[in-house]
Formats: sequence, structure tokens, C-alpha cells
Amino acid sequence: MATKDSARVKEAVAIATKAHDGQFRKTGEPYIVHPLAVKKILEEWHMDEDTIIAGILHDTVEDTNLTLDDIRKTFGDSVAFLVDGVTKLSDERAKLRDIDTYLPATKDNFLRLMIALSDDIRVLIIKLADRLHNLRTLSALPPDKQKKVAKESLEVFAPLADRLNMGLLRVEMADLAFKYVDPKRYDYLKDLIAKTNKSAEKSLKKVEQEVAAALKKEKISFEISGRVKSIYSLHKKLAKHNQNMGEIYDLTALRIIVNDVTDCYLTLGVVHSLYTPMGGRIKDYIAMPKQNGYQSLHTTVITKDKRIIEFQIRTHEMHDFAEHGLAASFYYNEQKLTENYKKGKIEHLPTNLLWITELQMTAAKLREGKKVDLKKLKLNLFADKIFVYTPKGDIIDLPKGSLPLDFAYRLHSEIGDHVVGVKINGKMSNLNKKLEQGDVVEILTSKNQTPKSSWLDKIITPRARQKLLHNLKLSAKKDQPIIPPLKKSKK
Ligand code: MN
Repeated sequence: MATKDSARVKEAVAIATKAHDGQFRKTGEPYIVHPLAVKKILEEWHMDEDTIIAGILHDTVEDTNLTLDDIRKTFGDSVAFLVDGVTKLSDERAKLRDIDTYLPATKDNFLRLMIALSDDIRVLIIKLADRLHNLRTLSALPPDKQKKVAKESLEVFAPLADRLNMGLLRVEMADLAFKYVDPKRYDYLKDLIAKTNKSAEKSLKKVEQEVAAALKKEKISFEISGRVKSIYSLHKKLAKHNQNMGEIYDLTALRIIVNDVTDCYLTLGVVHSLYTPMGGRIKDYIAMPKQNGYQSLHTTVITKDKRIIEFQIRTHEMHDFAEHGLAASFYYNEQKLTENYKKGKIEHLPTNLLWITELQMTAAKLREGKKVDLKKLKLNLFADKIFVYTPKGDIIDLPKGSLPLDFAYRLHSEIGDHVVGVKINGKMSNLNKKLEQGDVVEILTSKNQTPKSSWLDKIITPRARQKLLHNLKLSAKKDQPIIPPLKKSKK
């Protein structure tokens, strides 16, 4: 592998190794192991040389004697810019407390994070590679740190990877993090998936052979393979369907990759001629891509031995995009860019990633000191979610319309039970106030407070409701004569 490295990359490795000399990771390994792992991830994503070099150097400015000027002199402006971006990003996160000092146009730290990143989206890609390796080695950290990093990865970074259509990254991050957030559930579902796959193995093999034979007959060239559902996505799906396994149709799936779009539809026809498709479960994400740009044909069929199997049919290019998303689009775009450049046409990003361009333009305006209405910025990253912050700057994601008690119970049920008031963005507020994107929420508690049944009207999240009901029952047993009636929560 190292033999393929260019002279510049080799030099970056040598400089980083020297700079980090004598430093060690929590795993006990020499620190350089981490930047080298980030390098490898970026190479797997086919990132360009400057990004790979910046990945190798990403922790040097913050943690060693190397300066940004040193990097600029040796590797040029672009690499220095990327390293600076990644460094600022971690700075920015450490400084979340100073809410009004940076970018006073918005209190929304998540938006600020995105703006900080958007200068060059490659900064974000390096950050994701960095986070992925930190998750892979999370076992070396103390338990409280593990939980914190895992939670943040599950709530912020994995959805971000999804929004960027980086499917492989999303799956790996979510499963690595979920293992620390809810280890029991993780083990249970892992086992469940393994058992289901084992019992389906034989009939899946048969189906694979039947489909392969039929496709050969039609002279369609193809690759077929089983695809494994991620543990975290099964967890989310089960939560959506009241834990009913009968509603999960895509636990067993086969993926067929063909050469072009015409072959995709031909293949769909071949599959439907062999097995009965289930009504309402044919999805054409080729004609109508998902919001993140994902394309494929999905269909769920019933096999001859009455098994339910999902098929995903796509081209090689669609497959690469589904797995590497934004990173793949850089790779393809670089080739397209060169072609189009010759034709006098300049394209930056595919249309499904136009929100990034929009974000970049907004960031540029902010830096020039121009007025920008951030509410108009259709970030749409998480359409149904808001991100709010603890006074310490921890990011908490909640459904839109959440109230202070939802936030309090989300932090801890001990905190929820003892709420006496709330400060939003430093000002006293009340428990009926809907939280908004970017709010800094401080919960005031008192030891003497007990949970109140009237709070049921001031809660919208099922989890907080469950905790409150549970604790109401407990405290009713202790000192309240009446068990409060169950009320439907307000929409
Ligand atoms: Mn790092």
C-alpha cells in the first residue's frame, strides 16, 4: 500500500510521524496510528491527494508544535486550509459555551457547525473519517466518555452521513455507536438478525440461483449478493412498527447490480415474472430519487416457499453513490468536471447536493458581514428534528414541537421529575414554551419537587411520557392517594 503513495503523501506521513512522536492514544498505541487510519479511510473513499494529506496532518496543529504556516509552506494553501478547517471545527465545538461571540447572526450551534464546515465540504469528509476511526477505537475510552461520543455520533454524525448519502459510513457509525448507547438491545437484535439470516439461508441461495439463471437467459450481465440490514436501522424500524417483526419485510434482501438503467427495469420484470410482488411495495427511486440522492428499484416478493424477500436493483454508479455518497460524487465529478471544462461548462455538485452550495453561499455572505436571513436557508438536513443545547454545549436532538419537559426527561428522568423552571437562552421561560432550533435550555430543579400529572399536557415525546407515567405511579404509591388518569398526549 505504502508503495502507491506519492512523494507528497510520503512526506506528510514522515512529518506527522515526527510531530506526534512520543504521543500515545488511549489504546496505548503510538498516536500516529490514528492519522494513518484516517488516511486509509479517505483513500477508501477515493478522496483527492490534498484531502488525504490534510487527513494525515489533521491533529498536528492542535496537538503538536507544527504550525499552519509550516504546513502551508510544505503542502500549499489548499492543504493548510483543510487542516485549519478541521482544527477550527474541534475548537468551535470546545467553545460552544461562548454562545454570542462567534457568528452572532445565529445562536444555532449546529447551523454554525455546518457553516464552519461548508467553506470546503472536504473538511466535513475529513471530520467524518476522524469520527469513524474514533468510534472504531471507542473501547479504550472511559465509559462516560464512550456514551457521550456514541450518543453524539448516533444523533448528529450518522444522520449527517445519511444526508450525504454515505450509506456504508452511516451503517458502520450507527452500529458502532448503538453498541455503546444500548448494549443489551444491540446484542439482542444482532442475534435476531443472525438467526433470521441463518434460517433464510437455504431458500435465499435457491432464489439467487433461479434469478441468476433467468437473467442469464435474458442476456443481462449482473452481480447478485445478499445485503445485511444494519442493527440500528432494524431497531429504528421496529420502534416505528410497535416492535412487530411481522412488519419488517426487508430483513432478508438480495441486491442486483447491472450495467444501465434499462437493465434495472428489465431485471425488475424478470424478478416479477418469477415471484409474486407484494402490492404497494414496489418503489422506483430511480425515477424519483430519495432526498439524499439515493437511487435504486426496490420490490418485495413472495417466493415459491412463501418467504418474503426484498430486492434492490441498481446500476454500478448508483451503487457507488449509495455507499459513498458525497465522497463518490467528488470522484465522479472530478472526471465529469474535466470533461465539462473542455466543453466550457462548469458544474460543482450534483443537483441533489445543491443544499451544500446554498450553505456555502450563505457562509460567504456571513463572512463578508452581509445580512442573511438564516430562517430562509432551506437546510432541510433534519426536516422533522430540532437541535437544542445544554448550557455546556451538548447537542440534544428532539422532535419538532418539543417542550422543556421533553428536554428534561431526555437528559435524565431524575432531572425530569424535579423540574421547577426553565431558562431558554438565558431568560426565564415556562414549561409550555415550544423549543426552537438552536435554543440553549437550562433546566432548574429542586430536590423537593415531585412529578405532576398536569405535566402530561406539557410533553410530546413518547419516551418522556412513559417515564413520567412510570414515576407518577411510583410516587402515587408513596404519598399520593389518586393515580392520575391516562390522557392522550396533544399533537
Ligand atoms: Mn483526530
